[in-house]
Amino acid sequence: MAFCTAINCMDGRVQLPVINYLMERFGVDYVDSVTEPGPVKILAEQAAPALLESIFNRVSISTDKHSSKSIAICAHADCAGNPVDDQTQKQQLIDAVKTLQDKCSGVEIIKLWIDENWDVQELP
Ligand SMILES: [Zn+2]
Repeated sequence: MAFCTAINCMDGRVQLPVINYLMERFGVDYVDSVTEPGPVKILAEQAAPALLESIFNRVSISTDKHSSKSIAICAHADCAGNPVDDQTQKQQLIDAVKTLQDKCSGVEIIKLWIDENWDVQELP
């Protein structure tokens, strides 16, 4: 049984696209999901310590107990929890990875953008 980890928005429209993409991308059986409204905002701005801690706690269960070696941080078009333009969200993705890298060593972290057609794009 192999797991990876998704830090995804709570939005129901992005759950299955992200899970399907990640099962294929990492060849895993299961995707552990850590969801918040607009998680890239929380990780990029680091303005809500309790929320950050909650995300890190849940990610560490996935990496420690399920031996997940790969984390995807996700943002999407038309996000109600993070109503800023797409370019701002993509910058938040970059900043969110930096925040995660400080906490999660030895795991691969990728950035996913889910567009207005609910297609998943992996950003470089
Ligand atoms: Zn959202």
